[in-house]
Amino acid sequence: MNEHTTQKVAMVTGANKGIGRAIAERLAAMGITVVIGARDPRRGQEAAAAVRAAGGDAHAVALDVTDLTTVQEAARWVEERWGRLDVLVNNAGITGSGKVSPEDAYDQVPSSVDLDMVRAVFETNVFGVIAVINALLRRSPAARIVNVSSHAGSLTLTSDPDGPFAALLPSAAYTPSKSALNALTVQYANELRKDGILVNAAAPGFVATDSNNHSGYLTPAQGAAVVVRLATLGTDGPTAGFFSEDGLLPW
Ligand code: NAP
Repeated sequence: MNEHTTQKVAMVTGANKGIGRAIAERLAAMGITVVIGARDPRRGQEAAAAVRAAGGDAHAVALDVTDLTTVQEAARWVEERWGRLDVLVNNAGITGSGKVSPEDAYDQVPSSVDLDMVRAVFETNVFGVIAVINALLRRSPAARIVNVSSHAGSLTLTSDPDGPFAALLPSAAYTPSKSALNALTVQYANELRKDGILVNAAAPGFVATDSNNHSGYLTPAQGAAVVVRLATLGTDGPTAGFFSEDGLLPW
C-alpha cells in the first residue's frame, strides 16, 4: 500500500521500550505517523499496537541498527509506503557491559577495557547511526534528525574535575561512543544544512529504564521531551546543536 500524503512520518529506532517508546508515543500524540524500529519484531508490533490503542498512527518495522540487511529493508519499506521520512530519531543505544548499580563490577575502565565490548558499543551507538541515516534519509528534504546522546558525551562537562559530572566513572566505551555521536551530529548537520535538514543531539538526562536498572530519576516521558522538541523544530530551528531540557549543552 502506498500512502504518499502530506502526513508527517517519523522513524524512531529502538522504540519498543524506554525513552524511544516514550518518544514514539509523544510524536504519535502530536498527530505524526510513527514507525517503531525494533530489533525484535514481536516487541515492535506490541509497542505499535499500544500506540494505536491510545489513538496514534503507529507501525512497526524490524530494525537492528547493526544489521545492514534489516536497515536497508526498513528503508525500502518506508520508501515504498510513504516515499519519504520527515523525522528520524536515532535512539537505539547500548551501555555495554559495566556498572549499572553500585554493587556491580565496573569494566569500562579505559586501561583494562575489553576491546570487543568497546567495538560492540560503537557498532550500535555510532556506526549504526551512520547506517540508519544513510539508508533512510536519501529522499527527505527538510527532515529533522535527532541523535540521542548523553551528558556523558560532553567532553567539556566530563573533563571538568570540579564539575557536576566529575563523579562519572571513567569509560572507554559508552561515554566516548556518545562523544563520537556528538561529533557525527555536527558533521551531518554541516553536510545537510543546504538541504534544510536540521541535525541535533539530545541529552535526555538520567532516565529510569532497563539500561540502568531503573535507577534514573526522570520518567521516559520526561527524558523524551527534549528529543521531541528537536524532532519537531520549525524551519528556523537550530542545527549542529547539543541540547538538554534545560537548553544548550557544551560539546
Ligand atoms: P533501553 O530501555 O535499554 O532501550 C534501548 C532501546 O534500544 C531498546 O529498544 C533496544 O532494543 C534498542 N536497541 C539496542 N540495540 C539495538 C540495535 N542494535 N538495533 C536496534 N535497537 C537496538 O535504554 P534507554 O535508556 O531508553 O536508552 C535509549 C537511548 O537513550 C540510548 O541511546 C541511551 O544511550 C540514551 N540515554 C539514556 C539515558 C538514561 O538515563 N536512560 C541517559 C542518556 C542517554 P531491545 O529491547 O531489543 O534491547
